[in-house]
Parts: sequence; structure tokens; C-alpha cells
Amino acid sequence: MTDRLDRALGERFGLAEFRPGQREAVEAVLAGRDLVAVMPTGAGKSLCFQLPALLLDGTTLVISPLIALIKDQVDALRARGIAAAGIHSGLAAAERRAADAALDSGDLDLLYVAPERLAAPGFRARLAHLRVTRLVVDEAHCISQWGHDFRPDYRRLGELRADLGVAAAAFTATATPEVRVDIARQLALQDPLELVTGFERPNLTLSVVDCRGRQAKQSALVELIDAVGAPGIVYAATRQSVEHWGEFLKERGLNAATYHAGLADGERRRVQERFLAGEIEAIAATNAFGMGIDKADLRFVVHAQIPGSVEAYYQEAGRAGRDGGPARCTLLFSPADLRTQEFFLAAANPDPALVADVWRLMGETPDAGSIEAQVGGDAARRLGAVTAARLLAREVEARGLTPGEGDPPLAATVLAEKSRRDRARLDTMAAYAFSRGCRTRFIYDYFAGAARGGAAPRCGTCDVCLGWHHGRTRAIDDDELERVRLALSAVARLNGRFGVGRIAQVLAGSRAKEIVGWGLDRLPSFGLLGRLTLDEIKDLLGSLADHGLIERCGIEGGHPGAFVLSLTPEGAAVLKGDERPELALTSPATAGRRAR
Ligand code: ADP
Ligand code: ZN
Repeated sequence: MTDRLDRALGERFGLAEFRPGQREAVEAVLAGRDLVAVMPTGAGKSLCFQLPALLLDGTTLVISPLIALIKDQVDALRARGIAAAGIHSGLAAAERRAADAALDSGDLDLLYVAPERLAAPGFRARLAHLRVTRLVVDEAHCISQWGHDFRPDYRRLGELRADLGVAAAAFTATATPEVRVDIARQLALQDPLELVTGFERPNLTLSVVDCRGRQAKQSALVELIDAVGAPGIVYAATRQSVEHWGEFLKERGLNAATYHAGLADGERRRVQERFLAGEIEAIAATNAFGMGIDKADLRFVVHAQIPGSVEAYYQEAGRAGRDGGPARCTLLFSPADLRTQEFFLAAANPDPALVADVWRLMGETPDAGSIEAQVGGDAARRLGAVTAARLLAREVEARGLTPGEGDPPLAATVLAEKSRRDRARLDTMAAYAFSRGCRTRFIYDYFAGAARGGAAPRCGTCDVCLGWHHGRTRAIDDDELERVRLALSAVARLNGRFGVGRIAQVLAGSRAKEIVGWGLDRLPSFGLLGRLTLDEIKDLLGSLADHGLIERCGIEGGHPGAFVLSLTPEGAAVLKGDERPELALTSPATAGRRAR
């Protein structure tokens, strides 16, 4: 089996070896096991289904939402002499005829289809010409309404998969554990292999620079560009900020441009082309810039403001250094910027009353602009109305409703749930910015959740691992070491079963109902840090996690940020007394109390 795969890899794709995770994915698909694979953009997802498609009988049906991507992949496969075709709305007449002929011949290794085609009349009947033996869903997070990219067309895939009755493989670059569970449920996957891989990018240095204000950010950016050079991207949260950073880059003598949704299509295309051609060295952009950007030699991706989620952050930052050369992904972090994200959060989560207002107005006018004007209020409310109109329009289309009739088709519970999840995402992004632990590990833990995999506890290449914040950690005294050991022993005892809150309660000697109910008050660890407050213990546990002595693992099906704690080998060494760590402990308040 191994030989056969290696040979096919070399002969059919001209590649020397598998990247991390690819072989496991290929084997699962070949074996007919359902699969959910989370691999960052550029990690090499397509090979994971293209290679098996060649080795299997019949046709592998690939659902992919990006027409440009379908075209690229089909062209590349054809160039390798592989029988592939794509069906989507962007085909010219001649291309469509060729695709139809290929489909009718029944002789295709891979058929790519854009999801909206699934709904087209007669399409499903046409599939009958083919013997579909595997279903592949690319960008599979689009199936989950908790994902940031929900596409109603993807909801049809469950039915398609049931009709076809074949093994399915779902691929995505960004799916937290809960979205993964949703993907598996929607596609009715049977005991899928969950693979989370490719998050180690040894050529990337992830870092966070604490900045208070614009001046500090500017100095940090200048320092970074001096160190690594162009080309690169500076992401900013608002258009206004994009303009500022564009100007700043120009003042620094760089050939720079700006990119945001407010520019005309032609202008945006020009900027993109000139950037790809190397005529523009740096771009200041909102998150509108990037979909489908494939510039391999980016030396930096800077975020001038914190984004709203780790998914968004990693997707954008991960565009750096695709060529394998050294590159920096730097977040210029000012806690005040969280307010901008709070504003976006509010705007993205209209309350039920606003949704009802918008629903009523939609019954009176189809014009979104006039709805926005009529709801009035502050900017957050108007933006909220735009969001509400978009969400409602989606339901109208999906369910064939009449706007304004009856209750709004968005239940308050659904809205509340979405709001909770968006909030948890932002909180996790803030935790990344505040963390003093390995950045790569943080991101890996976030995406991997309970699907444990190969990531090392420390990457060795991020700002923390490289000791750029070294001033922050210090030798700890004997009392502190004792506290650290007690905390570690509690984590070891409850390994992988509870999160920070419960373990802190145990150490503090809390008689909370759950603690007593579960008999946790009878543990030897109970009350051992009774002299500290609950918050101080949580802080201590946070430091231990940040320094890799304990690790946070996601809970299967839990929401992002729902972690249980377990001991790492480093933590075990400290617990045994083999090592004395340097930490950034922040609990001076306890010093006096300890002396008593
Ligand atoms: P993704 O879909 O995960 O974003 P792609 O499948 O487009 O990534 O692959 C990204 C690039 O990596 C492509 O240029 C592809 O040829 C290359 N690639 C994939 N697998 C390997 C491999 N095993 N060795 C070398 N290059 C690879
Ligand atoms: Zn690291």
C-alpha cells in the first residue's frame, strides 16, 4: 500500500513525499472511511482526494464553492492527463459542451461541481451517467451555520450523500471542534477519521507586540519591515484605518496601495494584479483582501488591529511565507482595539426586536438601503439592520417565504446562540493576544480540540518560544514553586476531566454544589491553595498553561474555548522536582497574606 501511494505521488503528481497528514487522509479515503480533515490553506488538501480518485474505480464527486478554484484544479489535473471536469455557472458555451460530453461518457476520475448546481433541475439525473464512488466536500465549514461562511446550498449535501450512499470526505481550513461535529452530523458521517494537521509552519514566526496607541504600532511596523522586507500585507479593521496605514507605508518609501470593499471592482482588480506582479510592495487592506490571493513570497502579514476570531486571524496570517522562506505574522495588539470588534459583534448580532422591525419593513419595501434608513438609530443599529436583512433574505430564499408575513423566520434562541458563539470566538482571539504561551500551540489547540495530533507543546519559532518577551518571565521563589506544584498535582489528578474553573474551585476548597456533589471535596488536592482567591488560582493555572506545563484540550462537541486541562511532560518534570521553571507569575497580592 505504502509503495503504491508513494509511486502514484511521484508518477502522477511529480511530488517527492507526502506532507504531514496527507498519507493518513489518502488512506482513509481509499479505504472508504469517512473523513473530516482540517488543514490550513496551502497545506495540500486537494492531493488528499485527487490521489485516491485516480486509484479508485468510478468517479469522485467534488463539491467546491469557488469557481476560480474549480477552474484551476481542473486545468491542472487535465494538464497531468487526468480525466477531470468542472460544472459551474462560469463556463463558456464550448466549455459547457465539453464538460457535458465528459459527463455523458461516464469516464471521469474527478467531477467538480459548484454547490448551486445541485439545485438545478435535471442535474441529479445527469449524475446517473456516472458511477460516483466517493463524495468530497471542500470548504466544508460552509455547511455549518455556526461557521462564518454558511452557504444554504451546502445544506443539500446531506441529502446528496444519502442518495449516493458512498463514503464522504470533508475538507476545510477552518473548523473548530463544534463546526467539525456539525459537518459530521449534516453529512451523516459514520465514525469519521478526524484529522487536524498542517498547522506547523516552521518558517513562520507568529508574534504579538503589545502596543499602546498608533505611535507604538508604527514603530513596531517599521522595525518589522526593516527586519524582513517586502512584500507584505497590513490588515486593518476599518476602511479609515486602512487609509491611514496605506499612507504610512507610502511615507516610509514603500510602493504601497490600499484595498477595501469601498473601492470600485476595477480598481481592486488592478491593485491585486499589480501586487501579484510585484509592482506593489505592500498593501493595507481590510479582510476583503485575500480570498484566492496566491502570492507565495509574502514576508509579513501584520494585523494593525485584532480581528474577531482565531479562524480569521490564522487564515489571513497564514498567507505569509507560502514559499517556505522566513516570514512574520505579527499582531499589533492594543486592548482598546477590542472595542472595534465589540462594535462589529453587536452589528453582526441584531436583537430580536430589531429583527422583527426589519422583517416588517421587508414586507413594505424590497430596498435594503431604505430599510437601513428607516430603522434609524446609531451606527451599530443600522449595521445590525443590514445584517438582519441579509439573514432574513437568506431564510426567505431557502424556505420560499413572503417577506413581512407572520413572525420573522429567525428564532430568538437561534440569534442568542449565534451571538454567544461570536462572543466566544472574540474572547478566544483576545486570549491569544494576551497569552504568554506558544502561539502555534494555542492555534493548534483551538483547531484540534479533542482530535489530538502531532503538534509539539512548543513550536520553537514564535515570539514566546524565541524568548522575545523574556523580560516577562522570571525565576520563582520556593513558595511560588510549592504553589505551582500543588496546582500541577491537582491537574494531574483530574487529568483531562475538568477545566480551569472547576480545578480552581477544588484548589480553593470551594463547597459549591457541583464540587460536593461530585465528591471532589474528598480529593487530597481539595483546599490546598485555600489562601488564594479563586481568581488568583485561575491566573496561576493560566500561567502554567501559557508556559506549557499544562495544556488545554478542547472538548468534543464543546464550544470554542471550552477546554479541559491535562499535564504535559514538561509539567510532569516540574511536579517530580526534576525541573524548576521560569514563569511570568502575577500574584503579588498574595505575598503579604502568605507571610501572615
Ligand atoms: P489547500 O487546498 O490545502 O489550500 P492545495 O491542495 O492547493 O492546498 O496545495 C497547495 C500547494 O501545495 C499546491 O501547489 C500543491 O501542489 C502543493 N503540494 C501539495 N502536496 C504537496 C506535497 N506532498 N509535496 C509538495 N507540494 C505539495
Ligand atoms: Zn511557539
